[in-house]
Formats: sequence, structure tokens, C-alpha cells
Amino acid sequence: MVRRNVGSALIGLIAVVTVAIERPVHAQTQPGTNTGLPTVVVLATGGTIAGAAGSDVQAAYKSGQVGVDQLLAAVPQTKKLATLRGEQVANIGSQDMNDEVWLKLARRVNELAAMKDVSGIVITHGTDTIEETAYFLNLVVKTRKPIVMTAAMRPSTALSADGPLNFFNAVAVAANKDAAGRGVLVVVNDWIHGASSLTKTSTTAVQTFLSPLSGLIGSVAYGGVEFYRGPVGRHTTESEFSLDGVAALPRVDVIMAYENMDGVLIDAAVAAGAKGVVIAGVGNGNMTASAVNALAKHAKAGVVCVRASRVVTGRVGRNVEVDDDKLGLVASLDLNPQKARVLLRLALLKQRTNTELQRLFEEY
Ligand code: GLU
Repeated sequence: MVRRNVGSALIGLIAVVTVAIERPVHAQTQPGTNTGLPTVVVLATGGTIAGAAGSDVQAAYKSGQVGVDQLLAAVPQTKKLATLRGEQVANIGSQDMNDEVWLKLARRVNELAAMKDVSGIVITHGTDTIEETAYFLNLVVKTRKPIVMTAAMRPSTALSADGPLNFFNAVAVAANKDAAGRGVLVVVNDWIHGASSLTKTSTTAVQTFLSPLSGLIGSVAYGGVEFYRGPVGRHTTESEFSLDGVAALPRVDVIMAYENMDGVLIDAAVAAGAKGVVIAGVGNGNMTASAVNALAKHAKAGVVCVRASRVVTGRVGRNVEVDDDKLGLVASLDLNPQKARVLLRLALLKQRTNTELQRLFEEY
């Protein structure tokens, strides 16, 4: 009887220890807080997570209606995970994301990350351009502390709004010490994506984000965090890019390829001042001969021309059906057109050869 009790106590103890090992510890003691919980700063930029509709079953809604304080108050469960402080950086639908907000956001993240009492940062954002903002921050913020972005597909007033649980999970990841050094992460619908890999794949479905080429970094269920691996590509403290002394980013346009394409839009982009052009090509970064000729003409004149693909997954290789070496073009490799544009804008802050530009696409 006694032996059986000892046995079940042991089994209980093993179960507790196993749970403790398997479930990452969210509550870490940090200096500067009297709760013993880590301090996580929430930077709100708007999006559907802060959106509101006229009724709970209405498709039409307006992004960026709810302020950061309301957002924090709506998910009191986060108080178990971290001490939260909120700041409103912007309150826009992410279709309106712009360089002014990007530069402000990146600088604020760098400032906060340098503060001793800040353990992690959560950024709320619209889903439309979260992949671009995440990748931009991944290249220019200089910290190993967790930077976690989150969003929602349904407005805060909707039936089964997805924002509150996404926000709770994002705070759990930002408060988790194992999230450190993995670059900027995006937590949506229970999945943890790397900034370079995720992309929005459905206009309306809650399960919209995939990392189709290289897969997930981890998952999170009701605050229980699991990491599978690190992100792909150099990031944050290992990135050679910096915003020090940068007041503006160069113009780079993305142009989609299609049947019967000519060079008119490529010429127009260059005439409008583009220092770089990214083609969202068909298949493996292909386009009509007319478009290739237009690109080669501008590449010769010093405009950086990158071939990416309008296809949702797969690598765009160098010199496959287009002779990049001969024409002076760059292949986007694993980056989709919108992320190739982000990397190119940062790359163009300084003069670089095509060989060096291709190296950047290999490494980031
Ligand atoms: N247009 C909205 C935005 O990006 C919709 C996407 C969302 O947040 O779900 O802000």
C-alpha cells in the first residue's frame, strides 16, 4: 500500500517535472519589475486586430479603430505571462504601411530593446503587409531579445475574433527566453513563423499564413511554446544593415509578369526614379523577351533588376532560363517579390556590384 503510494507520488512527480521540462517557463524573474514577470512592451500599429465592424457578423469593417490600451485590456489573461506596457506607434490598416512608420517603428524597437528592464517586444500589425514589416525589422533591429509580431484576420468586434488568442500567444512567445536570438517572429493562428519565410496565402481565411518553402519555426497553443528550429538567413545582430544615419529608403518597384508583357511598366518605374526593379516573374522568375530586354537595358544603365516569382513557393535560381550573368540581373532565390524589394531597398543604401547583391540574396 505504502509502496503503491510512493509509486504514484513518484509518477506524479515525474509528470510534473516532465510538464515543467516540456512547457517553456513563461515567468522569468527580471530586474525592475516587482511582479517577478518579464516586462513586454506592446507597440501597436493598427490592422484588423484593432479593427471594428458595425456588427459581429459583418464582413465590412475599418482597420485601426481600437487603441493599444483597449487592446491590452481586452486580453487580461496576459497578466499571468508578463507585465505589459503599451505604446501606439500608428493606427492604420497595413495596406497603408509606409516608410515613415517603418523608420519610427524600427528606431523605437532598437531603443526599447536596449533597455535593461524590457524582456521582449510585441508588435501588432495588419495582416496585409506584416510579412514585409517583419522582414524589414529582421534586417535592421539590433537585438537578441524576442521581437514578436502578431495580427488578426477578423476584427475585434467579430464573432470568433482571432485577435485575442493571437495576442495572448504572441505575449507568451515574447516572454519566453527560448525566443531570443531567432530574429523577428510572427505568431498567428498558433504558428510561429520566421520573418523571411512567412507569406499571406488567403485573402480571408483565418489560416492564411504559411512558411511554404522552409517551414515553421515553432508553434504555440494557449501560451505553451514549442520551438522546432531557428530562422533561415542572417538577421538582427548578424545583419550588416543598419538605419544609422538613414533618413530615407531608395525607391524600388515590383512589377508582375504576365502573357504578352512589354517593357512599358519597367520603363515607367525607372522614369519615376526607381533605383531597383523587382519582377514578380512567371514560374522560375521568367518573363517575355520584351520584358527581359527592357530589364537588361536598365541593368546596363545601373538600375538593379531582380527576378523573383509570382508563384507562392519555390526558389528562383540564377541562369536557369534567363542568362543573368550575361544580362546583369540578380535572382531573388528564396525571397518572394515583396521581400526581395525590402532587401534591395536596404542593399541600395550603398553602391554594390551585382556579385555582392547576389551574395545578399544568398545570405539573407
Ligand atoms: N487590410 C487589413 C490590414 O492589413 C486587413 C488585414 C488584417 O489586418 O487582417 O490591416
